[in-house]
Amino acid sequence: MSSISTLVSQLVRPEILALNAYHVPVSAGMVKLDAMENPYLVPLSLREEIAAVVSGAAINRYPDPNPLALKRKIAELLQLKSGMSVLLGNGSDELIQLLAMAVNKPGTTLLSVEPSFVMYKMIATFLGMRYVGVPLAQDFSLDMSAMLAAIERDKPALIFLAYPNNPTGNAFSAADIKQIIAAAPGLVVVDEAYYAFAEGSFVPHLAEYPNLLVMRTFSKLGMAGLRLGFLVGSELWLNELEKLRLPYNVGVLPQLVAEKLLDHHDVLLAQAEQIKQDRSLLLQELSAIKGVKVYPSSANFLLLRVARAKEIFEGLKQRGVLIKNLHGSHPMLQDCLRVTVGTPEENRRFLEAFNETITQLA
Ligand SMILES: *Cc1c(COP(=O)(O)O)cnc(C)c1O
Repeated sequence: MSSISTLVSQLVRPEILALNAYHVPVSAGMVKLDAMENPYLVPLSLREEIAAVVSGAAINRYPDPNPLALKRKIAELLQLKSGMSVLLGNGSDELIQLLAMAVNKPGTTLLSVEPSFVMYKMIATFLGMRYVGVPLAQDFSLDMSAMLAAIERDKPALIFLAYPNNPTGNAFSAADIKQIIAAAPGLVVVDEAYYAFAEGSFVPHLAEYPNLLVMRTFSKLGMAGLRLGFLVGSELWLNELEKLRLPYNVGVLPQLVAEKLLDHHDVLLAQAEQIKQDRSLLLQELSAIKGVKVYPSSANFLLLRVARAKEIFEGLKQRGVLIKNLHGSHPMLQDCLRVTVGTPEENRRFLEAFNETITQLA
């Protein structure tokens, strides 16, 4: 054993040895409001259609490395102009990795804002790439003078902006993002994981900027289990990334099921509408609780600041409700919690457990 641990510590890169593995808490039997999943299944009739497609699937064969019908559906949905294309990933996490690998020359920088989606920094670390995180302003908007100064100083080859942002929930000003794209010497990727719950999109602006790509995922729209993300933008960019993509990164079943679900995109969007309505109700109810600050959200979750985040998180857990404790993850998230908007029943159970917990703590 000890010789293995010696070998491990000799051979594995020190920055990897120093990492903690991405932690996924146990959630069996709990009201699961920690991971921005859509709480709804699609209607039974559609699930039966999916079952029929799956039962005929050629799982003995490798998947189609270039599933044109699925890509065409996505292109139509997004009304992509000619010259624009679609790159599929095993979740958008894989696309972040492909992008970073493609531009990671010695000394190049990946830049994002903080607090934001943690995978940007993690993947830079995995690849031994320099990472710069520019703090957001106090109200979680983009600190434009800091951003423009960092762009000037670090000349990042790759910038990620989550729009809306996770875990803060707000959508940055589109004018600010445009200014960043115009100032950036490298590629800017607008990560629209929460597009279904938000208003704006940069897809219509793709043709205006040679250094812009838009990334989306179906994870927050009811397909987290499928692992399917995609990048859209000029073929000239995507053709290079295609070379780096592992040949069979999206399996037979995700391809088939996603295609079927996209034929019923309206069903998923209707679920997103319901979630948006329930988001306003949840926001109202939480805002009425003394000592709770709720941040406005354009996503399917709410960020809260409370007096004692850890105790409230634990109290909820004891009552069978799992949310995300952000306290300790970033200085600007002190005493912050993040809760995914669930079904009305799940939201009720969350509020009940929340009220019980703060009463007990008082
Ligand atoms: C959840 C999330 C993703 C991850 O998406 P997957 O497709 O599930 O890998 C990407 N970006 C942001 C900002 C997210 O919150």
